[in-house]
Amino acid sequence: MECKFVPSVCSYCGTGCGVIFQVLDGKLVGTLPMKTHPVNEGKLCIKGWNLHEYVNSFLRLKYPLVKTFGRFIKVRWDEALQITADRFKEIIETHGPDSVGVLVSAKITNEENYLAQKFTRAVIGTNNVDHCARL
Ligand code: SF4
Repeated sequence: MECKFVPSVCSYCGTGCGVIFQVLDGKLVGTLPMKTHPVNEGKLCIKGWNLHEYVNSFLRLKYPLVKTFGRFIKVRWDEALQITADRFKEIIETHGPDSVGVLVSAKITNEENYLAQKFTRAVIGTNNVDHCARL
C-alpha cells in the first residue's frame, strides 16, 4: 500500500486555502488543512474538508452532453463547442448580444475567469457576465 501527501490549493472559492491531499494507491481519499499555509493557517471550511469527494463522484460530468428531444446525448468536445458556438451566433444575430450571458465559476482559476469575462465583453459584446460567488 502506497500513501502520499500532496500539497495543493482548495478550488472551491477564491480564498485559496492550502490543503494536503491524501492519496492511497493512486486514489484521492482525503483532504487535510495545511498548517503552514499563510491563508488558512491549518483551518478549512466544510467545503474544503470535503474537497476530494467530487473528484471520484459518480455524479461528476466527464464528457459533454447535448440535450436532444428531451434526452442528454454524449458528444465529443469539438461537437459540443461547435453546437454552442452555432447556437450563440444564432441567438445573438436574432436577439442581440444582451440576450445572452455568461456565468463563471469559483472552481476555475482567476486567469480562466479573466478570459471568460474578456470573451463575454469583447467577443459576444455584452456586460452580462457574473460569478457564482455573487449568486
Ligand atoms: S476551504 Fe473553504 S474558504 Fe478555504 S478556499 Fe476552500 S471553500 Fe474557500
